[in-house]
Amino acid sequence: MNKLLLFVILLIGVSFMSAEDKYNKLNDLEKYVIENKGTERPFTGIYNDHDEEGVYKCKRCGETLFKSDDKFHSGCGWPSFDDAIDGKVKEQTDADGRRTEILCANCNAHLGHVFKGEGYTDKNIRHCVNSVSLQFEPEEPKQEKAYFAGGCFWGVEYHFQKLDGVLSTAVGFMGGSVKNPGYYDVVGGNTGHAETAEIVYDPAKVSFEKLAKLFFEIHDPTQINRQGPDIGHQYRSAVFYTNKEQKKITMQLIEELEDKGYDIATELEIATSFYPAENYHQDYYEKKGSKPYCHVYTKRFD
Ligand SMILES: [Zn+2]
Repeated sequence: MNKLLLFVILLIGVSFMSAEDKYNKLNDLEKYVIENKGTERPFTGIYNDHDEEGVYKCKRCGETLFKSDDKFHSGCGWPSFDDAIDGKVKEQTDADGRRTEILCANCNAHLGHVFKGEGYTDKNIRHCVNSVSLQFEPEEPKQEKAYFAGGCFWGVEYHFQKLDGVLSTAVGFMGGSVKNPGYYDVVGGNTGHAETAEIVYDPAKVSFEKLAKLFFEIHDPTQINRQGPDIGHQYRSAVFYTNKEQKKITMQLIEELEDKGYDIATELEIATSFYPAENYHQDYYEKKGSKPYCHVYTKRFD
């Protein structure tokens, strides 16, 4: 056999194998629906009564086809969507010549049928999809960070942990000049850092404004370089902003408080490296089962 022919045969073999490999393996029911255009029994699919936020992907090739925002309850027994992601679902006349079949535009997996003009939703379309043709993927929450210093970081963290939309918190040090400081470096007052709480939050559930308002209400923002019994530059009141929007909102809130007669000492600093404190400082009050000694909620905003 000549070498070129051998090479061509090998190439065809390899591409055939990779075409097989690139799709997910299907079980018998999935093959029946996706490959042989079958239909799962109504009210049996796992996504019929499924309301989580996220996207629905093609079970076979993984392409994203539908969004949970477009899902609605039709009562027909199969997941129903009044829209598909642009260009990802194709339509063709069904073998029965009457209905319109819908398929994954990428891999031709059979999804179900589309019906128009039934009046279920404003868009007036129902993509009636077999659950077994789909794989749901939950939406990753968006994450943003905020940094607040207001005296002993144990108490600041304690209050933020209770707020809806806060995904995680940590205590540590920010705003200084020494790299990787430990608690005993900062408590000496010479590193420039402030005891700081790092707040990781979902901006779809809680706004930075709400976080910043809480910050101004759980410590006394009029105290200069101290908070209650904790005295020193490391206990200053500060907001370390991570973007212009956080800076603007903080300035507006400070102005609002000043208009109410508060002499605000809070410093507005750009966020720099955050150094987490030693483990025993994390979740301090939660672990101890007690309440902060100097961070008490005081309403200051209307
Ligand atoms: Zn597909």
